[in-house]
Amino acid sequence: MSALLEIHGAIAVIRIDNPPVNGLGLSTRSAINEHLQESLNRQDVSAIVLTGTAKAFSGGADIKEFGTEKTFASPNLPSVLEAIENAKKPVIAAINGVCMGGGLELALACHYRIASSGCQIALPEVKLGLLPGAGGTQRLPRLLDMSTCIDMISNGSIYLSENLRQSALFDGFIDDAGSLLSSAIELANAKSSIYPIPKTSLRPVLELNHSALFEEARTVLRKKSAFLPAPINCIDVLEAATQYTFDEGIKKEREAFQTLLNGAESKALRHIFVAERAVGKIDGVNADTPTRTIKQVAVIGAGTMGAGIAMNFASAGMPVQILDADSECLARGLQRIRQNYEASVAKGRLTQEQCDRYCALIHGVQEYEEIRNADLVIEAVFEQMSVKERVFKSLDRVMKPGAILASNTSTLDLDQIARYTSRPQDVIGLHFFSPANAMELLEIVRGKSTAPEVLASCANLSKKIKKTAVVAGVCDGFIGNRMLAQYTKQASFLLEEGCTPQQVDLAMENFGFAMGPFRVSDLAGNDISWAIRKARRISKPNEIYSDLGDLLCEQGRFGQKTQAGWYDYQVGDRTAQPSTAVANMIRDYAQKNGFKQRLISDQEIVERLVFALANEGRKILKDGIAARSSDIDIVYLKGYGFPKHRGGPMFYAELVGWEYVDAAIDAFSKGHRGSTWK
Ligand code: NAD
Repeated sequence: MSALLEIHGAIAVIRIDNPPVNGLGLSTRSAINEHLQESLNRQDVSAIVLTGTAKAFSGGADIKEFGTEKTFASPNLPSVLEAIENAKKPVIAAINGVCMGGGLELALACHYRIASSGCQIALPEVKLGLLPGAGGTQRLPRLLDMSTCIDMISNGSIYLSENLRQSALFDGFIDDAGSLLSSAIELANAKSSIYPIPKTSLRPVLELNHSALFEEARTVLRKKSAFLPAPINCIDVLEAATQYTFDEGIKKEREAFQTLLNGAESKALRHIFVAERAVGKIDGVNADTPTRTIKQVAVIGAGTMGAGIAMNFASAGMPVQILDADSECLARGLQRIRQNYEASVAKGRLTQEQCDRYCALIHGVQEYEEIRNADLVIEAVFEQMSVKERVFKSLDRVMKPGAILASNTSTLDLDQIARYTSRPQDVIGLHFFSPANAMELLEIVRGKSTAPEVLASCANLSKKIKKTAVVAGVCDGFIGNRMLAQYTKQASFLLEEGCTPQQVDLAMENFGFAMGPFRVSDLAGNDISWAIRKARRISKPNEIYSDLGDLLCEQGRFGQKTQAGWYDYQVGDRTAQPSTAVANMIRDYAQKNGFKQRLISDQEIVERLVFALANEGRKILKDGIAARSSDIDIVYLKGYGFPKHRGGPMFYAELVGWEYVDAAIDAFSKGHRGSTWK
């Protein structure tokens, strides 16, 4: 039973009891229904109080049943709500703690509501690409003003109960959560003889003339959620509440809910919801795995990455030492950190006091002896094995036993790095993304010998510094950059065949990326990938690349920083302007190499690039570099701007079907540079 029944005098109390948040799974819905029927049948019961155990009234749908048949199995939520609203005895919702989604819809269907302060009231379905599908959009505007309804339903905003206490939502409100039940029973006794029993559905909508408000909301949402239908649909059904009867409104709500439920966007958002919860599960690590205490951190290298990495820890209140071999680089790094924090103060994101406190937590040092007591040391020096070798040999010599030795390498073999120490079990990869203080993704690289407790400790730490960590195995580029290499390669092959950078970028932006590959490259600096290609041409001489990126860099077109890259830029303006010089460079290069030119559709551009990601992702999975397909999606969603409404490259491939993907890849492999698909 996922709900309990108690009798207090003439009042039946039904307590929803499905920890942790009293989700309305099948057994809970059945139990509420059964207890309701029993209470209605009993002669000694005159009114019913519905409440939740522990810290929640109900958090809505049960995520354990997400996507299973149980979600909509009988009794479904609308039928339970109908039974409550049509009950012949008054039902009082005693709202405690979390009251969200289906939980709030349940409370709205009750005849009276009493709440304590501190409750969280929300209809967050829109965050999963849905809208409240059990009457929420039709009942809420009968109890709350329209602006609040719009915000709660189309933005999914959470409201504290005390901020709604003056509204018609509550028939009773108490400050002290401890006396909620007794107050609810008192209210139930008082209402037990009042007939007819009030129904929310029979109330008029509070405010009817709101077309301007709806239009204003639509304008904002069209911009904010360009690729998602749900927010606008929320407005449509709210507006329907002002135009139609309750029953007609419910019909419209249900139709819109069903359409969204079957739509690709909601499927993608629900996939992400599940993926985000799965990503923290690490093979060989469980709740019993011991963890090491990490209080003091050291970073080696005060360059672009080292400085950003150090900021993460200082911002989390942890002392950090930065060691750099070059005193000027060290000073520059420390200065860059202060400038970054100062910029946040100027933007109003930090107070001056926070800025000073964080800076005071960061200390520059030049001797290894000074960092010997750090619990974790993260190396972020030049990407050369010989330099890494020197650093890790020094760390092995000085660091206290049990210290975690991490590398931020992007491409080098972590197992090789671990072999430079006498403690490979303590060596791990912590691959931050640039800018390291801002990017949410962290790839945790598990070496052959990395101890489970080192992994568990770093996974815990990632939460402290507010990163989403994905565990990857050792290979060139790990998950993210290994896939990116295929994506950017295909992007430049498209130029060889006659696309312009702007055509490729626009196709990807219409697919949902904030920026296409060439605009991204101009922003990051084309010289970075140039340096990587130079190194790979030595380590992997048979790998096929387009020479276009190299030709671009040979002309000094490094991107925004040189006002010239794949596009032209005016000083102080980041707007990408199509470049005649680049168009000529591409044309001459194609002519010289005899590449056949053709018109390429946007669909082909998207498929070439996205399937390149998914195809490499599939290999990564097969090689055991990622634990699950959804982890790969998380990497792309959190670290590479993959559009959320597409769910990630792997999910996208599953949605269109791997058969379709494979047929497309087969066709690509017969075309220009086709061997790169093998
Ligand atoms: P960088 O050139 O900006 O900084 C490297 C710093 O290391 C310099 O300040 C240098 O003085 C210092 N250094 C060099 N040898 C040293 C030694 N033996 N002891 C102490 N300090 C030493 O480089 P970066 O871009 O910050 O990259 C650092 C690492 O992070 C590389 O492994 C790189 O692959 C990786 N990484 C870079 C990015 C990025 O976008 N830049 C992203 C992820 C990972």
